[in-house]
Amino acid sequence: MFNKKPHISCLISAGPTREWIDPVRFLSNPSSGKMGYALAETARDLGMKVTLVSGPVSIPTPEGMEVIKVETANEMKSAMLSTFDNANLIIMCAAVSDHRPAKYTESKIVKDQFPSHLELARNPDILKHLGGLKKIDQVLVGFAAETKEVLLSAKKKLVEKNLDWIIANDVSNEQGGFSNDKNEVILIGSGGQEHPFALDDKQIIAQKLLNVIYPSCIEKAR
Ligand code: C5P
Repeated sequence: MFNKKPHISCLISAGPTREWIDPVRFLSNPSSGKMGYALAETARDLGMKVTLVSGPVSIPTPEGMEVIKVETANEMKSAMLSTFDNANLIIMCAAVSDHRPAKYTESKIVKDQFPSHLELARNPDILKHLGGLKKIDQVLVGFAAETKEVLLSAKKKLVEKNLDWIIANDVSNEQGGFSNDKNEVILIGSGGQEHPFALDDKQIIAQKLLNVIYPSCIEKAR
């Protein structure tokens, strides 16, 4: 039919990554995965084909989508790349650890031998890498969790990572951010558009975000 909507495939990452020091210790962050899971469920409810790449979280695995479970940033990068080419909308919501221990110790390091300094290696910036691979019909979305100069930093990342949209998130706000049920964000487009969304449940924020982002995917996929 002339006006038929194109079918949109959506790839979303969520949750933290874990960077193992030895079999019993890791570096990570307090991301709950709630925002990414809410986005994945909303995308599914809008009729998109969803692939969710998830770090370790304690929320139930959603139905009606492919879920790829990962732990480390490198595993997350591989999982994102395995689906990236077939996705129209890619949302990098995961709180990826920027660093990992330079060396993994195969057996538990005993307390008295635990080093007072840990040598770290940089993890890949997955989103920036995807920004370099992005094709003309793909919409790439990132998050910017900031504690100061929120808008300015988010706009800088939008350009540096070649994104179509960035979601600026003030994580110093005690009611929103990392592990809370609620969030307050500003959606910024590469054309300079700004859409502020007041504090609300992450499910509602996910719907408001996709109400703006989804039409831009339809437009690009036509
Ligand atoms: O540069 P910054 O870490 O603030 O950027 C945040 C955005 O980049 C988020 O969308 C996050 O998922 C993504 N990111 C990434 N790989 C990293 C660090 C962040 O994809 N190593």
